[in-house]
Amino acid sequence: MANQIPSTGETPVYEDYARCVHCGLCLSHCPTYRLWQLEADSPRGRIRQMILVNEGQLALSDRFVEHIDKCLDCRSCETACPSGVEYGKLVEHARARIEESYLRPWFTRATRNFVFNKLLPFPSRISAAATLLRLFQRSGLQALARGTGVLGLLGLAERERLLPRIDDQFFYGKLGKTFAAVGERRARVALFAGCIANVTFSKLNEATIRVLTANGCEVAVPDLQLCCGALAAHAGVRETARGLARKNIAAFGRDSFDAILTNAAGCGSTLKEYDHLFSANEPEHAAATALAGKIRDVTEFLAGLGLTAKLKSLQARVTYQDSCHLLHGQKVREAPRQLLRAIPGLEFVELPYSEICCGSAGVYNVTQTDAALELLAEKMKNAKETGARVIATANPGCLLQLRAGAEIHGTGQEVLHVVELLDRALKE
Ligand code: SF4
Ligand code: SF4
Repeated sequence: MANQIPSTGETPVYEDYARCVHCGLCLSHCPTYRLWQLEADSPRGRIRQMILVNEGQLALSDRFVEHIDKCLDCRSCETACPSGVEYGKLVEHARARIEESYLRPWFTRATRNFVFNKLLPFPSRISAAATLLRLFQRSGLQALARGTGVLGLLGLAERERLLPRIDDQFFYGKLGKTFAAVGERRARVALFAGCIANVTFSKLNEATIRVLTANGCEVAVPDLQLCCGALAAHAGVRETARGLARKNIAAFGRDSFDAILTNAAGCGSTLKEYDHLFSANEPEHAAATALAGKIRDVTEFLAGLGLTAKLKSLQARVTYQDSCHLLHGQKVREAPRQLLRAIPGLEFVELPYSEICCGSAGVYNVTQTDAALELLAEKMKNAKETGARVIATANPGCLLQLRAGAEIHGTGQEVLHVVELLDRALKE
C-alpha cells in the first residue's frame, strides 16, 4: 500500500485492511457508533479513512485524527466481525502514523510526552508523583478544591473524580520477592505488577498473590519489571512501547515459570501481543513471542488450574462487566464468570450489554471525558437495574471507571475485581 508509515514492528499490509467487506455487522457493537450514529466514527468508516490516508487520497487532517482519537480501541468490532478484521492492529498503526506525521497542539504534545516517555517508564517517577498526589488527597486540599468549586471553574471537576486513590503503601516493596504456595505446589508463576497499579492497586496485587498461593501456586514478583507499554502502544507511541517490551523480556526471562500472570486485562492484551511490536526479522521477535506465549490473565489461569482453596459463603448478588481487553482482546469470556459462580452463596446475574465498553479505555476517560461519561451513564443504568450489590470486573482501569460511576450516579454499588471477591471468600 502506498504511503505506509515507517512504523516500527509488525506493520499491517493491504490485505489486513481489505479484509473489511463493508458488511456493517460491527456497527451496532461499536460504542462510538452507538453514541453518535456517524459512519466516520464506526469501525468500517475508520478503516476506510485509514486506507484513504495510506493511499494519499485523504489528508492526515484534524478530522482524521479526531475520528481515530475518538476510537476506544475496545476491539468490540473484532469480536463482531465475520471477516476476521484485526482492527486493534490497524488502529494502533493509524495512531503511530499520527504520532509521526501530525503536529498536535503544544500542550497536548507536552502532556503526551511527559506521560508516555517521562513518567510511565520510570517507577521512581511514578512513586514521586503518587506521593505528591497522596498528599493532595490526604491533606484536605482535595476536599477544599471540591468544596470551593475551583475544580469546576478550571473545567477539571469530572476528571478529578476519575483520579485513583493513592495507596498508603506502594506495591514496589514486593518486587523481587517470592511467595510460597500453601500446601502442595501445583504451579510456579510470575506476577506482572503493572505500573500505576503499584501505587493505586497494591491491595489488588496482594489479593492476587493470596488467592494464587491459597490455590497452590508459588508466586514470584520479578524485580526490574516495568510498565508493559500498553498505554503507549495504544496511543501510537511505539518506540516507547518497544523499549519497555525489551526490558520486560529481560526481567521475566531470567527465570522460568509455568505462566506469567496479570490481573490487568489491558496489560495482558498487550503482553500477549508483544511479538507484534517487533517485525519477524528483528532480533527481539523470538523472545517477544516466547514471553507472549507465557502470559495468562489471572482469571484464565485460575479457571484452567481449578480452585482448590476452601471458599466460604459470600451472600451477595453480583454482576460482571466484561473488560474489553479481556473479552475482545484476549477472547476470555467464561473464566471470570466460572470463578464467580464457584463462590458459594454468590448469586451471579448477567449485566445487559456487559460486552460494551464502560468508557475507561486506557486514558480515554481523561482525553475524551464527555464520551467516556456518556458511556458510563448507560453502563451504570444497566448495572443498577440488575439489582446487584457488587459489580465485578477484571481490569484496574474498569474498576476506576465503574467506581467513579457508582459515586457519580449514586448507585451504592461496590466495584471489585473478580480476584478480590475470591480473596474475600477465602478470608470470611
Ligand atoms: S464487521 Fe468486519 S467486515 Fe463488516 S464492516 Fe465491520 S470491520 Fe468490515
Ligand atoms: S475499537 Fe471499539 S470504538 Fe473503536 S471502532 Fe472498534 S468497536 Fe468502535
